[in-house]
Amino acid sequence: MLITQLKARDTIASLTEGKKVFIINCHGCKEVYFPEKEAAALQKELADAGNVTGIMTTDYICNPENMELRLKKHMDEINAADAVLVFSCGVGVQAVSAYLEDKPVYAGCDTCRLPGFQGVTPLEYDCGQCGECYLNLTGGICPITACSKSLVNGQCGGAKNGMCEVDNNMECGWERIYRRLKEIGRLDVLKCPTQVRNYATDKEVSQQ
Ligand code: SF4
Ligand code: SF4
Repeated sequence: MLITQLKARDTIASLTEGKKVFIINCHGCKEVYFPEKEAAALQKELADAGNVTGIMTTDYICNPENMELRLKKHMDEINAADAVLVFSCGVGVQAVSAYLEDKPVYAGCDTCRLPGFQGVTPLEYDCGQCGECYLNLTGGICPITACSKSLVNGQCGGAKNGMCEVDNNMECGWERIYRRLKEIGRLDVLKCPTQVRNYATDKEVSQQ
């Protein structure tokens, strides 16, 4: 099982500062305790400041067909936005990011593991439920699951012809991240100081 937790307000403010955003809430998995009230209060503040082009609340945006159908109704609002802010688990953010290829897509939540049975759903994207979501720094591609070594500060240097040195049937996740950041004009994030990972977040949290 997993749980989604809102990222810190300062983090969300720095992502949205000076930008128009389209907001997506995914309430698909009620059992993951999506922080609905806190997210709604934060989104109201953004909307009151005139920074929101639209809000869509839906379920199972991790299902690409479902997501495409829902998003098609909001394309004018999405096109009017500089970025899309997604409140969901890491799988949902990755699915939206892959669909909206030329639009920056940001995660408003971190995804953590909970003890208990993990449902098995055949999904195109994977989230390692690491507790500190990096998708805002990696163009919406998860470095924990797309890189064999779960590196969060760039490529190991071992890739050959774009393929991972650990698994040569797999494209190097960091080459994918580089290409994606280039496509969305965000290569600047690679100039950020090294991200010091807080491994204390990478653990199961207790259910309240
Ligand atoms: S970085 Fe990857 S594993 Fe961690 S929360 Fe985000 S999508 Fe999940
Ligand atoms: S080659 Fe790429 S995907 Fe493989 S371990 Fe190195 S950085 Fe990660």
